[in-house]
Amino acid sequence: MTAPRPELKYKRLLLKLSGEALMGKQSYGIDMSVADRLANDIAETAAAGAEIAIVVGGGNIFRGLTGAAKGMDRATADYMGMLATVMNALAFQNALDHRGVPARVLSAIPMQTICESYVRPKALSYIGKGHVVIFAAGTGNPFFTTDTAAVLRGIEMNCDAVVKATQVDGVYSADPKKDSKAKRFDRLSYSQVLANDLKVMDGAAIALARDNGLPLIVVSIEEPGNLLKVVLGQARQTIIEGTG
Ligand code: UDP
Repeated sequence: MTAPRPELKYKRLLLKLSGEALMGKQSYGIDMSVADRLANDIAETAAAGAEIAIVVGGGNIFRGLTGAAKGMDRATADYMGMLATVMNALAFQNALDHRGVPARVLSAIPMQTICESYVRPKALSYIGKGHVVIFAAGTGNPFFTTDTAAVLRGIEMNCDAVVKATQVDGVYSADPKKDSKAKRFDRLSYSQVLANDLKVMDGAAIALARDNGLPLIVVSIEEPGNLLKVVLGQARQTIIEGTG
């Protein structure tokens, strides 16, 4: 007899993984051992009955702003950044595949011989069937970030929350790695994040989440098993929601 599935606080999640999360301790690129560890977390969370969609960043390979600072046209540099997210998405799909977790990459920029294009009903159908869906190429538009893409897809996919995976256990008043007096928050409103310019996600992403009432959860993924704790409502985290 199989054990009964636990009661989930969040059934459907959009997980935002930055490129840096996939980089591990390297200074560039993808550390597949880190991708494998994260894939493990996702596999155990999916096995508990959660539905998971992922937006991956590209900062471990290329960022549009870095290209623009070196004299490139910003829009061109941003397209390069979006291509970097596709590389990460394929690497992560591979890691999930090795764990036996069915995963699909859907790109906002069509590239039909590499992966499927993003079409909302198709993505909803995959998620409903228990596939992990990895959204690549951000929003498909320059001048945006994958944080905004995460909130956008989170809303489109009717997710219960966006989980921003970071290296620390929530949002702090200052960088806790540099300032020992930095205060950690359990809960914040969207306006508190925007008014105090807290470094969580860019302003466009926070405003979009606020306007659509989508909770944002900031949690560490350094600790294995934390994603499962999030869906069970047991993680040490910061939740951003509501007014105040
Ligand atoms: N990007 C973009 N539009 C989007 C999402 C991303 O132009 O909708 C580009 C942008 O240049 C960005 C890069 O892709 O710098 C990589 O994404 P991001 O910086 O959000 O990655 P992360 O910091 O999460 O690794």
